Amino acid sequence: MTILLSKRLQQVASFVPQGARLLDVGSDHAYLPVALIVAGQIEAAVAGEVVAGPYQSAVDTVGSAGLEDGIIVRLADGLAAMQPSDRIDTITICGMGGRLIADILDKGRAELSAVRRLVLQPNNREDDLRRWLTAHGYAIVAEDILEENGKRYEIIVAEAGQQELSELDIRFGPFLRQDQSPIFLQKWQQECAKLEDALAAIPIQHEETRSAISQKIQAIKEVLHES
Ligand code: SAM
Repeated sequence: MTILLSKRLQQVASFVPQGARLLDVGSDHAYLPVALIVAGQIEAAVAGEVVAGPYQSAVDTVGSAGLEDGIIVRLADGLAAMQPSDRIDTITICGMGGRLIADILDKGRAELSAVRRLVLQPNNREDDLRRWLTAHGYAIVAEDILEENGKRYEIIVAEAGQQELSELDIRFGPFLRQDQSPIFLQKWQQECAKLEDALAAIPIQHEETRSAISQKIQAIKEVLHES
């Protein structure tokens, strides 16, 4: 069975180390672990799902591909899908909000000690996720930003380690901010234009709100002028 991954999941897959033992949390159809096993990129995987419908979809995909030996599908909340005997060393959590990803990691902290790499693809609140990672002994080792079907997605790759991040790093991403890719520039130029419109609509006497928005605009301009 060949699975053609979306561009977003292909980019996520590119950060999964060769020979990994993977837990994919919120796997839905299990497309990511199936594609990685078929490509020979990973040794084994657990596809975790907390909702019955997507869990059944994952069971069906793995079953139709005849991959039950390589991929275990478990109905479980977050990192509870992982058992010590799985020897998981890499976790992917994709397609959820940044806060939910941070909550899943936080709830499963006890399970994380043997895991070498986290590949995370938040749909929003990337800043909250970066804050959780640096506050809990993770260093961001790579980042990516991509666009697919008119939506932008960020990918954050983290490994155990200490890292000091500034507020600008937390908001914009330490690597993304340095790389200044065209998609990154587009994202923040649009955000800046939205904030400028919002500022123009706020009456002059609402000083606090105006000042908060002005600071956000200033931060964007500072980062966009770094290149
Ligand atoms: N990871 C796939 C992707 O990126 O295409 C599917 C993303 S889908 C939008 C999010 C999935 O995460 C849903 O199937 C949902 O049931 C599952 N999910 C949400 N919270 C979860 C949790 N705490 N544990 C396991 N799965 C969860």
